[in-house]
Amino acid sequence: MMQCVSVLGSTGSIGRQSLDIISRLPVRVAALTAGSNVEHMARQCEKFHPTLAVMASQAAAERLADRLSGMDIRISWGEAGLIEAATLEAVDCVITAVVGMVGLKPTLAAIGAGKRIGLANKETLVCAGELVMEQVRAHGAEIVPVDSEHSAIFQCLMGNKDRGEIQRLILTCSGGPFYGMDRAQLQAVTKADALKHPNWKMGAKITVDCATLMNKGLEVIEAMRLYGLPEEQVDVVIHRQSVVHSLVEYVDGAMLAQLGAPDMRLPIQLALTYPNRAACPVERLDLTALGSLTFSKPDLEAFPCLALARACAKAGGTACAAMNGANEAAVAMFLADEIGFYDIYRLVSTGVEAAPYVKTPDLEQILEADRLARLAVARAAN
Ligand code: NDP
Ligand code: MG
Repeated sequence: MMQCVSVLGSTGSIGRQSLDIISRLPVRVAALTAGSNVEHMARQCEKFHPTLAVMASQAAAERLADRLSGMDIRISWGEAGLIEAATLEAVDCVITAVVGMVGLKPTLAAIGAGKRIGLANKETLVCAGELVMEQVRAHGAEIVPVDSEHSAIFQCLMGNKDRGEIQRLILTCSGGPFYGMDRAQLQAVTKADALKHPNWKMGAKITVDCATLMNKGLEVIEAMRLYGLPEEQVDVVIHRQSVVHSLVEYVDGAMLAQLGAPDMRLPIQLALTYPNRAACPVERLDLTALGSLTFSKPDLEAFPCLALARACAKAGGTACAAMNGANEAAVAMFLADEIGFYDIYRLVSTGVEAAPYVKTPDLEQILEADRLARLAVARAAN
């Protein structure tokens, strides 16, 4: 059991669920970080008494300091604050629940300090996964995935990791709110439609990624990096019920799956208790009440973001970073009502094309690909 934890992105969907789990375990909170939600951060500080609280901007940090005056909590801001939260001496596990590639440098810093990473922030592995995993090996750090599919695979591999016996990984995908629609129908969908996920309640960015199926594309890359497998060995199946969280097929044809109610608190808790398990307040599955579970192929014609992500996964190098940066920029525009649903795909393609390709990039080249892709998206949208 991890004893002292930092939660990066504590005011978000994963962050709040992490604190719910932490409040039930003998775990101390050393640091909390948020973007701009001062009021919620203040309430979390009053409840968990961290040593350090970090906001994205100096202005937000000053407001938090006013709100918490008299409490013995150090307050910081920006990237330096995030990195400090990720590397505090006393911390043994860092839950990375910030959204977007803003999580990259703090994650690398936590790895450099040899921490366990409870990794929710998939964008980090998508844009710089090879570099991140190299650093994990170099520093003897450890990643326990929080993303439900990757946690499921992690659980199916317990005791069998690194034995060369994996045939393929099968990621399950709910299909999102637009499952079954064709291109013509998808022309008419709105932001409000995209934000209605059938099975999970999550932050806005990942909810839109689920509607385009880009989320599953990001997860294919995340799985390749975590488990060191080529793109051909990571499959995706549509599974509307979100009960089978993912599967491993072994070389002998045996398939192992992890099942459970769709509740992120189980993978979050496992990141803290691994290699052990503990009682968890999630709903129990009643298999007979479920009746049937269904599986089908994703429609790559209607949801081209998944095919684009697979092409970038195959290309490797800076292609994934460019795609991720372009997607973050395009989804932000969609959430600001500036573009339509299919513009996301169009703009991400433009961003990938615009960023120069480097086969084995260093961190600077990854950041540059991200920057140029975002720039291309901004230009193409105007
Ligand atoms: P949310 O949008 O709910 O939360 C994001 C968190 O990051 C908030 O604490 C937010 O602060 C903070 N934040 C946002 N922008 C910045 C910034 N520029 N600098 C510092 N902090 C920032 O996201 P989710 O919890 O849904 O997702 C978090 C990560 O986990 C994502 O990478 C997502 O893909 C992944 N994930 C999420 C799942 C889910 O069920 N939600 C499932 C699997 C993976 P503030 O509240 O102040 O804005
Ligand atoms: Mg997932």
